Amino acid sequence: MQKVRVIGGGASGMMAALTAAEDNNNRVVLLERQQRVGRKLLATGNRRCNLTKLGASPANYHGEQPDFVRPALRQLPPAETLALFHSFGLLTVAEESGRVYPLSDSASSVLDVLRFQLAQRGVELRCASPVQEIRPEKGGFTVCGEWESFSADKLIVACGGAAGRKLGGVNDGYVLLAPLGHRRTKLYPSLVQLVTDPDYPRALKGVRAEASLRLLRGGNCIAEACGEVQFTERGVSGPAAFELSRAVSTGGEGLCLALDLLRDYSEAQLRALLRERRESLPDLDAAELLTGLVHNRLGRMLLRYSGVNTHTNVGALKDRELAPVAAACKDFRLPLRGTEGFDNAQVTAGGLCTADFDPETMQSRLVPGLYVCGELLDIDGDCGGYNLQWAWASGRLAGRLLP
Ligand SMILES: Cc1cc2nc3c(=O)[nH]c(=O)nc-3n(C[C@H](O)[C@H](O)[C@H](O)COP(=O)(O)OP(=O)(O)OC[C@H]3O[C@@H](n4cnc5c(N)ncnc54)[C@H](O)[C@@H]3O)c2cc1C
Repeated sequence: MQKVRVIGGGASGMMAALTAAEDNNNRVVLLERQQRVGRKLLATGNRRCNLTKLGASPANYHGEQPDFVRPALRQLPPAETLALFHSFGLLTVAEESGRVYPLSDSASSVLDVLRFQLAQRGVELRCASPVQEIRPEKGGFTVCGEWESFSADKLIVACGGAAGRKLGGVNDGYVLLAPLGHRRTKLYPSLVQLVTDPDYPRALKGVRAEASLRLLRGGNCIAEACGEVQFTERGVSGPAAFELSRAVSTGGEGLCLALDLLRDYSEAQLRALLRERRESLPDLDAAELLTGLVHNRLGRMLLRYSGVNTHTNVGALKDRELAPVAAACKDFRLPLRGTEGFDNAQVTAGGLCTADFDPETMQSRLVPGLYVCGELLDIDGDCGGYNLQWAWASGRLAGRLLP
């Protein structure tokens, strides 16, 4: 019997362990630092678990070598991920966008079917077992915990990244593998709220809007996103903001966010709309000029931003006062201060250098018999099921323990 140890009972580690256990020659033990496996998985997708994204391709992933994901995705593309989970007993539903959720709408269903598979295949779970050191030995490894050590013929490290600290995100994987010669790139929080100059967002806290977002450096647009945004105490959140967060995190200072809050209308159309409103509702308070077009609080904020006199009636506003209001709806700018940190981030940008691993097997090029999968590697995906897809695909490949 070959002794296989998997370190980390998250999405990728569970997938790797149950895959390794499909081979009856392997005796698989899964070591988890926390009191239970899959704690982060339970929190994913607002506890609904967006477990994959149909159509996910290498273009949706980032890192020094985004193409590193190609063999893993080829061997377990999203449709195969679904087929695999169906075989585990999970029913799923795909939204129009291609995001897939469990039919139960509950992340615990995903964790439950994984736990059943681990048990069914005889994987031994050892929770509350933080691994503190990995010692390569002749033909294998010694894995040292606080109280006990284990010997292993093959080792899969799936410790995840630094993101989601409140859910157990740690730096252990990088620390454990550094003495074995594995380098890592710089780490940044990604898929996380943007922090802006707080002046405007603070008063908009909780307001949601559909918007097109542009990330600007000087006058140049360096990234774009489109979808729902939500204003927070310190900035902007929501899927569209998350999509830009990697570029903000890694982009340094001098960035600015430009929001188009009425993207289906041109600025000229908006100017005409406001002039019509001046004709049809001349006695309306100027403070209500944008009521009905955008959220009320957002409307008042845009009027303040465009400097229009709100202590008068709509009928008294001149064309030259309406023009900046239309412009503000199309190009509301917030200077960026950065992003929230790893506590709130959904994923870590950066990680173990992929050049040190074989993408066809996930095996280390430096230490034979050592495999790594999941977020610990320098791979992060876009928002919307891509990161779990990477965890499943890389975990499945690592668990095959290919030579
Ligand atoms: C709030 C939130 C929501 C998210 N929502 C989604 C979503 O809907 N869709 C999506 O695709 N992605 C989502 N993600 C990202 C996704 O959850 C992660 O990318 C994915 O879980 C990474 O899997 P992993 O196995 O590599 O790491 P993890 O799931 O983090 O698992 C690593 C495990 O290793 C354990 N560990 C660490 N160090 C040690 C040690 N020394 N000894 C033993 N065990 C150790 C940890 O306790 C943990 O259980 C979300 C993330 C967060 C934080």
